[in-house]
Amino acid sequence: MEKVILARIGEIALKGLNRSVFERRLAVNIRKMISDLGPAKVRWSQSRFYIEPEDDTFMFEEALERLTGVFGLVSISPAVVVPSEEEAVFAEAVAQMKQEMENRTVSTFKVETKRGLKTFPLNSPAISAEAGGRILDAFPELTVDVKNPDVIIYIEVREQSYVYSQILPAPGGMPTGCNGKACLLLSGGIDSPVAGYMIGKRGVSICAVHFYSYPYTSERAKEKVLELASLVSRFTGPMKVMIVPFTDIQLEIHQKCKGELGTVLLRRSMMRIADRLARKNGCSALVTGESVGQVASQTMQAIYCTDASANMPVYRPLIGMDKMEVVAIAQKIGTFETSILPYEDCCTVFTPKHPKTRPMLSEIEEEEKRVDLGPMEDKAINEIEVVRFD
Ligand code: ATP
Ligand code: MG
Repeated sequence: MEKVILARIGEIALKGLNRSVFERRLAVNIRKMISDLGPAKVRWSQSRFYIEPEDDTFMFEEALERLTGVFGLVSISPAVVVPSEEEAVFAEAVAQMKQEMENRTVSTFKVETKRGLKTFPLNSPAISAEAGGRILDAFPELTVDVKNPDVIIYIEVREQSYVYSQILPAPGGMPTGCNGKACLLLSGGIDSPVAGYMIGKRGVSICAVHFYSYPYTSERAKEKVLELASLVSRFTGPMKVMIVPFTDIQLEIHQKCKGELGTVLLRRSMMRIADRLARKNGCSALVTGESVGQVASQTMQAIYCTDASANMPVYRPLIGMDKMEVVAIAQKIGTFETSILPYEDCCTVFTPKHPKTRPMLSEIEEEEKRVDLGPMEDKAINEIEVVRFD
């Protein structure tokens, strides 16, 4: 019995002339994702990728699991390949129903057929009817329900025939690496890893910047951020993480500036540093996990003041989301459990009791004159620590 994985593409199918560029990129990403799982061919034709194991050392289940996370794919099916002959196709349809019934309670089903091979003696409805009849003969307790069946057995008759019963969802989006590069401001919280995932889903490669305030934040807080980077990079591809020593800047702002403006001043410094590091790394945007009104530093006015300090566009993929929606994505992509580990973030260390929720840019700029952050920002950039995830 020969098993293959069918993987379907979404939006890329809508691309015109440069569609093949996206497909080739996706093929590279798929090959890379499964490269350590054993020998398999990856080919594509008509909005469909075929992942064909070359022998049975190929780790099929693990490949399925990984492919459900590949950007650019909308769904995945494990399928069995049989010769395009009536008996072989019908026998496999019955076998797959048997397997479904071993895994769960099934009382209704239907068969859906696509016939691409015009020389096959039966047309699509006739194939479905015959396969359905064989299944009913084998399992008389089942009934056919075309509207809302418990199981659908899919049959595709081409040069060879594919029979399958599962369609697993994949994230959609665009293949990683086909839409430039952005720099993610990655904290240890719930939001920024999700923001990185969201921008990555549009085919954007990412590098990350983390501001680290040792000894106010611990070594374990840094490890947590690196763990988050590693989790996000499983989806978004290789990631360079730059850890910026931020303690001196924080202390300076804390000591010399009005507490109520401290958070916005800090965030402006983060933006300036991230902007410079992003430029050095060939990025054309910054990405943050901000969402309107979530905390004092994320009011419309505070974001206005923060934004004014960056030169490149700042993308905020979570801007209109509620916390619960962000949490749901964090759980889906597997970052939530790490994000909620209780290590302090540099922003929480000096958080003022009453941050100003409606700062004016003019007062922020005035306050910023009390500190000479330029040389400190240069120094921080010179002292970054770099960690790579491939
Ligand atoms: P998160 O859950 O991502 O930490 P948050 O809701 O805690 O977000 P803030 O702490 O105000 O919100 O941070 C807003 C955004 O600023 C974060 O999503 C992240 O992009 C960036 N940011 C905050 N702290 C850091 C940090 N220490 N290093 C890098 N980026 C940071
Ligand atoms: Mg945070």
